Amino acid sequence: MIHFALRCEAAGHAFDGWFRSGEDFDGQAQRGLVSCPVCGSTSVGKALMRPAVAGTREAPTPAEMAKVAETLQRMGREVRASADYVGPNFAEEARRIHYGEADERRIYGEASPVEVKGLMEEGIAALPLPPLPEEKN
Ligand SMILES: [Zn+2]
Repeated sequence: MIHFALRCEAAGHAFDGWFRSGEDFDGQAQRGLVSCPVCGSTSVGKALMRPAVAGTREAPTPAEMAKVAETLQRMGREVRASADYVGPNFAEEARRIHYGEADERRIYGEASPVEVKGLMEEGIAALPLPPLPEEKN
């Protein structure tokens, strides 16, 4: 059974209804079998439910997800090709560059989410790179 919040279109009375399915409700409503318990009107519709989360953005399609993943991987390859790999010293090295203690250059390496957060709080741009598919093996 599915619970629907219903509303009579004649006077806007709100009431609840239980149906086997959305089609079951549509069928019963069309045949005038669903009536408002307050005024008896058979002109009823599903009430607009307040969405639990603000905004009605639809979930991205698999094609869109694949495109985003592809873009991230391309960016990841570009960074890897043009930047110095500093391994687990990424946060330390990023700080040294930021404060002029090391040569200004693009670097990449491993950093924990806590380290990345710390860098961002100091105003140091650090972007986590997604792992490349070939690195997962
Ligand atoms: Zn009514």
